[in-house]
Amino acid sequence: MIKSLWNDQEAAELGNDPLKLRVYSSRLLGREADLVLHGGGNTSVKATSTDWLGDTEEVLYVKGSGWDLATIEAPGFAPVKLDTLRRLARLEALSDTDMVAMQRAAMTDPAAPDPSVEAILHAIIPFKYVDHTHADAVVTLTNTQGGEDKIRELYGDRVIVIPYVMPGFMLARTVADLTHDLDWGRVEGMILLNHGIFTFHDDARESYQRMIRLVHEAEEYLHARRAMTLATAAAEEVNHTALARIRRQVSLKAGRPLIARLDNSPEARGFADLPRVATIATRGPITPDHVIRTKRIPLLMDQAGNADLEAYEQAYRQYFEANQNTGLTCLDPAPRWAVWPGQGVIGFGTDGQNARIVADINAHTLRCIQYGEGLGGWQALPADKIFEVEYWELEQAKLKKTGNTGAPLTGQIALVTGAANGIGRACVNTLLAQGACVAGLDINPDIATAFPEKTAAIGLTYDVTDPAALQTAIAETIRTYGGLDILVSNVGLFPASRSIEDMDPELWRQCLDMNLTSAMTLVKYSIPYLRHGWEPAIVFIGSRNVPAPGPGAAAYSASKAGLNQLARVAALELAPDGVRVNSIHPDAVFDTALWTPEVIAARAASYGLSVADYKRRNLLKTEISSKNVAEMACAMAGSIFAKTTGAQVAIDGGNDRVI
Ligand code: ZN
Repeated sequence: MIKSLWNDQEAAELGNDPLKLRVYSSRLLGREADLVLHGGGNTSVKATSTDWLGDTEEVLYVKGSGWDLATIEAPGFAPVKLDTLRRLARLEALSDTDMVAMQRAAMTDPAAPDPSVEAILHAIIPFKYVDHTHADAVVTLTNTQGGEDKIRELYGDRVIVIPYVMPGFMLARTVADLTHDLDWGRVEGMILLNHGIFTFHDDARESYQRMIRLVHEAEEYLHARRAMTLATAAAEEVNHTALARIRRQVSLKAGRPLIARLDNSPEARGFADLPRVATIATRGPITPDHVIRTKRIPLLMDQAGNADLEAYEQAYRQYFEANQNTGLTCLDPAPRWAVWPGQGVIGFGTDGQNARIVADINAHTLRCIQYGEGLGGWQALPADKIFEVEYWELEQAKLKKTGNTGAPLTGQIALVTGAANGIGRACVNTLLAQGACVAGLDINPDIATAFPEKTAAIGLTYDVTDPAALQTAIAETIRTYGGLDILVSNVGLFPASRSIEDMDPELWRQCLDMNLTSAMTLVKYSIPYLRHGWEPAIVFIGSRNVPAPGPGAAAYSASKAGLNQLARVAALELAPDGVRVNSIHPDAVFDTALWTPEVIAARAASYGLSVADYKRRNLLKTEISSKNVAEMACAMAGSIFAKTTGAQVAIDGGNDRVI
């Protein structure tokens, strides 16, 4: 149940600054996922602004696009001339593209973000503060048979009810028409059927409190009718292979690799196991603005993880043909979420962040569907209304902005061993920068907290010489991202110099275990998933010692030579599955944990060289960094090496013994 988070003391510290109070209560709304999700909802405050000439005028500070209420700051509010917005509301017609252009032209700060498409609507509400959310409970009430009557029964005359109209200019126009003679002073809020709720007041606190109060009443309405009961089911063993397979099939339909997040929480499992899930899950989204992330309906899978994607595509194309009228281009026909009995719900996204958003929307969708069913029958907007938003000119523009960042490995999934520092860490960072989601493995427990929550990376603490631990790490990667495309076998041990005569058998064994056997085990257990990967590739981090060994490094050189043969055999064995296997032979990479400044200084001295010259002891007289190796690993994983397997590339600045 929702409750007010307003704190009088916190608010008092903001003084009477309207924008500061607007930021404060917007963030309070943003903290409640049951009110707004990922950029959903918007808020505004009407205030005066003084320009450089000293002229003051009334402006609407309205949430800018690209900002999230949970984290919004003052610069996230676009100042738009209030008079212009009010006059726009009186126009007979205006395309949404023109509306966006005119709103921008009316901004008093050209550097501010694009104002929300609901800015005109905010402007015509005659109160200082306006709060708008897509509260689950309210929208669910309207998404049932007789929803409008339920709203009137619950709120009586305290709210204005607006029938569903597409967001943007038409919605503002409709509200302007319907509230022409309204005495705004006698209403607390406005319910937009199948969309959301507005509250307003000249006092920031009261506008926020009204939102909380009205939403709370909707929750109590649901609760009193026992509609808030959710099905749950206990966790079951995840079918990782089937997950990787379905992710590949859906990616092929999308024409690009997608991240697949399995939600196998008791709630998601309970929903997927509902006997009527196939009929209730396919009626449509909670609100139309989810459709650009989730598509209108999910893919239905069977217990074994099979699904008829051809039928899904056909149905999607029929939906497009039935609703398009102005020569629109059909979007990819791949689903963005799937219901999997026995396992839960999968969200598919173009990258890690997008998949996370889809998964969050799913979690709310499956709750709202069950609430609606508890209230007599879940009923979403008809397909043609959903289509309008899915193919809305502004939503299409939004997709173009966030959909394709141009990063070459976007949507791909990588696993890197020895990821806590040095070359491994550089590989994780470069893979992330190139758009991939990454699982970083290391025995160093620091890896578990190495990547902040919002990044597309997870840190896993495992000992790669333990086969069971490796299997668990691979399974965790699949469960988190849905598959495995890129394997970077990097972990390595470089023992102190020792002649063969003095070899410690234990050290020899350790070196082979770490540098060779662990890599074999990693590849062995990864193959079933790489086979279902997107343009799959394995990159082995070898060593200059392979083509040019040195005295005193028998264990290291022999293990790396063995690794080199392993890579070549893997290239032969995995070519039929399309898995490319290539090796990098780095040399003299000094920015790793192996090389402390003291060790480098000692080595340089033993050669009679300065540290700088020692680091550049190669034909090109150049210094080699972990990043150079990581960039080569990414190149090998990507399209540059699309036609290459079994290759070995040196990154050593040129070495006459290797050439
Ligand atoms: Zn809205």
